[in-house]
Order: sequence, then C-alpha cells, then structure tokens
Amino acid sequence: MTKAAVQLKADGPVEFIEVDVRPPGPGEVRVRMAAAGLCHTDVQALYGGVASMTMPPPAVAGHEGAGVVTEVGPGVLGPAVGDHVILSALGHDGTCEFCTDDHPSLCLRSLQLADPRTGNGPALSVDGTPVTPFGPLGTFTEETIVPAECAIAIDKAMPLDLACLIGCAVSTGVGAVRNRVTVRPGDHVAVLGCGGVGLNIVQAARRAGAGSVIAVDVSEEKLAAATAFGATHVIDARHVQVPDAVRAVTGPFGAHFTFESTGLTDCMVQAVSAIRPGGTAVLLGMAPSSSALALDNIADIILQEKVITGSLMGSGYSARDFPVLVREYLEGTLKLDELITRRRPLAEINEAIADLKSGTGLRTVFTF
Ligand SMILES: [Zn+2]
Ligand SMILES: [Zn+2]
Repeated sequence: MTKAAVQLKADGPVEFIEVDVRPPGPGEVRVRMAAAGLCHTDVQALYGGVASMTMPPPAVAGHEGAGVVTEVGPGVLGPAVGDHVILSALGHDGTCEFCTDDHPSLCLRSLQLADPRTGNGPALSVDGTPVTPFGPLGTFTEETIVPAECAIAIDKAMPLDLACLIGCAVSTGVGAVRNRVTVRPGDHVAVLGCGGVGLNIVQAARRAGAGSVIAVDVSEEKLAAATAFGATHVIDARHVQVPDAVRAVTGPFGAHFTFESTGLTDCMVQAVSAIRPGGTAVLLGMAPSSSALALDNIADIILQEKVITGSLMGSGYSARDFPVLVREYLEGTLKLDELITRRRPLAEINEAIADLKSGTGLRTVFTF
C-alpha cells in the first residue's frame, strides 16, 4: 500500500488516502517519489477550465516529480533500479513526424503515453477503481508506475527536491527561451507573469544576453523575485498600461520577444501589443479552452509581421534538456533554491492549492 493525494469527487477536495499500485508492465518503471511540485496546471486539471485536461475522479494530479527507480518492467533499457530520475509529462520517441520536424512537444508517442486507454492501464487504484493520472504521470503519490521514456536519469549529486522543478517550471520557462525562439544578445525581452515559469524565462533570457529583461506582474513579492533572477526592469501592472511601460524601456518599437505565462487572455493581448514589428509573442500559460483572444487591430499583425506562437512545456526533448539543466544548477549558473517558498508534506495539498489560488509564494514542493 502507498498513500496518494486523490480527488474522489469532481471539484471536491483532495484526500490523502491509501491506494494500490500495480506492478510495472512492459516498458514501465516503478518510482518512489522524493519530491513533487505543485503547478497552476494541476489546479486547472483538478478544478476544470481546460477541456482536454479534465481528469475524471478518482484522480491524482501532479506533473513535477523526482524520485528513485525501485523496479523496472520487461524490456526497459533505461533507467535502471537505483537511478535518480526527474519525471517528464512528455515521453519522446525521437522518430515520429513531429520529432523529426523538431517539434518534440508534439510527439505522437507522448500523446499515446498520456492516453489512459493505451498501454498497461492506470498505475493506481482505490478500492479496485482505476485512478486517472495527470497525463502519463500523476506525481502526488508516494509511489507510482510510469513509462520508462518519462523517467529521465540524472546526476545523483542533484538534490531531488530541487530536481522536481525541472519537470515543468524550469524546463517550460528556460525551454521557451532556448528552444521555441532564438533570443540574441541585446534583444529586449518582456516577461508577463513571474511565477515559477516566468522566473525561469527571466533567468534564461538574461543568460542569453538580452539587453533588457522586463518583468511584469501584480505582486511585489514576484517582482522582487524577478529582480533576483536577473530582471533589469520591473513593471507593476496594477499601476500602468503594460505595452506603454514596456516601450518606456525598449524605445518606441517595443520588445523583440514577450513571454506570457499567466494564461489570462488580457495579458496575452498585452503581450502581442508590446512586441515590436517583426517581434514574437510566446504564449505559455494555459487558458481555458472556451477563451478567445480579442486583438483590436489585426492589420498590425500583417503590416508589422508580428508572430504569435504557443510553447508547450519548453518545446524540447526531456532526455536531452533535463540533464543539461541539472548540470547548470550544479555548476551554479541556474537558480533553483529561490523558486521554492514552501515545503510541505503531501497531506497538506489542499492548503497548498489555496496558497496557489491566492497567489501566495512562488512554488510549493511536497517532500516525501
Ligand atoms: Zn506545470
Ligand atoms: Zn515523436
């Protein structure tokens, strides 16, 4: 028996209860979780908003996790028992037509792994009822079974409570800067939303040599954190028009790149408005599937050759990118410690969700 944070009724609270874990099937590994981070997308999955991500109860959320492999199923070439791993919500095959087109976030194998109707079936069950996991993972459990492609072995020198953040917040933010676009030295970059993902955009843009990194948020705590992560300017969006405030820094044309991580459509419109002609707005924050973007002057997109793009989980290959991010942390060039404002036992998940909804703190990590 193991304990997990299970939502038993749609929109209900999450309960820390005993669950059954089946043995690993072909191509799977058993992972004893050491730490799991709480992301805004987990709350959206549990409490609705994004149709394609809705999790029928009983459900276990969580897509940031790190732990130790304790058993491998038939046919697994890696990782091995005893390996420390970061879990990835995307498991790439490297061979499908999207991987070979350099769009690994769109990997067809990833879609297959995230579909509970395929593979070996749900890893967890409650009194015989299968539990819906978040994609191929569901990390809010002491132990689980995941596809081997989704367990990325890392250097054992890496602390696992920090490593779990690489599974989403870090790889999504840093990856958007490195994989989705090319930020050149001197470019002006604005980052709308400075939570876990936004702060990683800030630090990656600064390391890429951006001429200015303009952090935008409505929280003084998050703006102060953005400065610590390398922002050259901060904008409190409660007091100013964001595109005007961005241009006050960049000059009249605006930013080369804006990155939107809040998922709020008003902020997305500001992100498009604040880019210069030829600039790119990168949208990363998940919005409810019913939402639409109301751009008031669509002719500007054409006349000014503006680009609007999405970026899913850093647009990279987990097996390539996670070990690099680990190495950068161990070498002292990637900040991770400062992202965690609270460590809690998994039993306190409802309190952590309340903190996240109220915008309190940066990242909560559950330690096991
Ligand atoms: Zn996430
Ligand atoms: Zn693929």
